Amino acid sequence: MKVVVIGGGFAGLAAAIALQEKRHDVTLLERRGILGGRASSSRDAVSGEDVDNGTHLMIGAYRDTLDLVARAGASELLAIQENLHIDYVDDRGFSRLACPPLVAPLHLLAGLLGLRVPWSVRWQAVKLGLHVRLGAPPVGLSLAEYFARTGQGAEARRLLWDPLAIAILNETPERAAAVLFWNVYREAFLASHAASRLVFLKRGWSVLHDRLADYFERRGGVVRRRALAEGIDVDEGRVTGVRYVQRAETRDEIRAGKKAETRTAPAVAVVAAVPWSALPPLVPESYRPTSPFAEAGRLTGSPIVSVEMWLDRVVVDRAMVGLRDSEMEWVFDKGRIFGRAGAPQHLAFIVSAALRSAPRPNSELVASAEASLRRYFPAMKDAAIARSLVMREAEATFASGPEAETLRPGPATPIRGLVLAGDWTATGLPATIEGAVRSGRAAARLLEATA
Ligand SMILES: Cc1cc2nc3c(=O)[nH]c(=O)nc-3n(C[C@H](O)[C@H](O)[C@H](O)COP(=O)(O)OP(=O)(O)OC[C@H]3O[C@@H](n4cnc5c(N)ncnc54)[C@H](O)[C@@H]3O)c2cc1C
Repeated sequence: MKVVVIGGGFAGLAAAIALQEKRHDVTLLERRGILGGRASSSRDAVSGEDVDNGTHLMIGAYRDTLDLVARAGASELLAIQENLHIDYVDDRGFSRLACPPLVAPLHLLAGLLGLRVPWSVRWQAVKLGLHVRLGAPPVGLSLAEYFARTGQGAEARRLLWDPLAIAILNETPERAAAVLFWNVYREAFLASHAASRLVFLKRGWSVLHDRLADYFERRGGVVRRRALAEGIDVDEGRVTGVRYVQRAETRDEIRAGKKAETRTAPAVAVVAAVPWSALPPLVPESYRPTSPFAEAGRLTGSPIVSVEMWLDRVVVDRAMVGLRDSEMEWVFDKGRIFGRAGAPQHLAFIVSAALRSAPRPNSELVASAEASLRRYFPAMKDAAIARSLVMREAEATFASGPEAETLRPGPATPIRGLVLAGDWTATGLPATIEGAVRSGRAAARLLEATA
């Protein structure tokens, strides 16, 4: 079967690889010159290091993503914790959630015992765990409502849940859908101790995507970068191809000033693996007001802001630290994660659900990151900031409120041969790499079953 996949993020690559492995004839179109979409990276011209569009983390429960990476022979790019541990810092100093390799959820209980939080918070955490384990999914509730119903007080939220929830959902608990947190909690913390371990990538995200693309191309797949899909052709309710604009693709073509060309890729099946807002314009106008294209158009985005910083010396002495009571929520030692733990130190800060931070000027965001270092890391006293970069992703994820859960479509569409993939489709997970990969694989399975 001739298939076109539109979108070279995790969802598109996962779908393309799954279909290629079934020996279909697959072409992937990606509008940008790099693969990876919202999990991408470029090479920093000054330091020569990879700079991500924003630091991403995975966990051991990302079973489809880890499988995809293993199939592509790229597992050596992953750094997997032996046991879950997360460091936090506040004005009282460092404290650590360190979970020993016990049967889940005993590993988490043991971790909680070691974390510096009041006993009342530990007890509330146990109550939440029991609700998630034994209760019904909190469909239709916001996460703040669910926290209230399960007896989580202000301290439990401040010290435990809000930082975790905002990082997982890219949304405040007041706005986020509780059921997404519930699903992640079950997969990450109640399944096995291995599922909750953090998984870091030792290189930039586009490096991983290039490896996935190599695997796909070695098996006969075709990747077209700088190929902007403009429309999916539909005849008598069935896809017939994709119209796209191919800009100069290779360095030689760019240097030679090759002109953009409009082309059509014939196809009996199309996987649209683009973000929600990019989907409606791709289908013929008559379909746009209908389901699921109309619903896609009603989803909105939630921003993430990242600050990358190079210091003249080592100030942060671990790979990742949660910065409590700080605008910058987490700091990562990117050098250490990339296997280079010395000076100059390459740090990355992240602010999720960054509605307030995103409009602020770069200088203020860098000053805010610097202030967190000065407040919590004594070694910052003598350190100098060599350089900084600020990155904003306005639509980092879809805004994952309870209403959005009613809008997220499955892979099927009323157009025969057209299926949807993407982190925003109905995966049961928040907008994550794992959701994107599972959606791509689900789209491929549906095409296999129905084409
Ligand atoms: C800063 C940041 C931090 C994040 N942190 C985490 C994290 O820690 N853990 C986690 O699991 N997730 C995280 N996420 C979310 C994660 O990146 C996304 O869920 C995932 O990458 C989405 O993949 P996707 O394939 O569904 O969509 P995308 O990555 O958006 O891919 C869609 C692709 O389609 C292309 N495209 C769009 N329109 C067209 C067109 N007309 N023609 C051709 N191509 C087109 C785009 O260029 C893009 O490459 C984060 C996201 C951001 C932005």
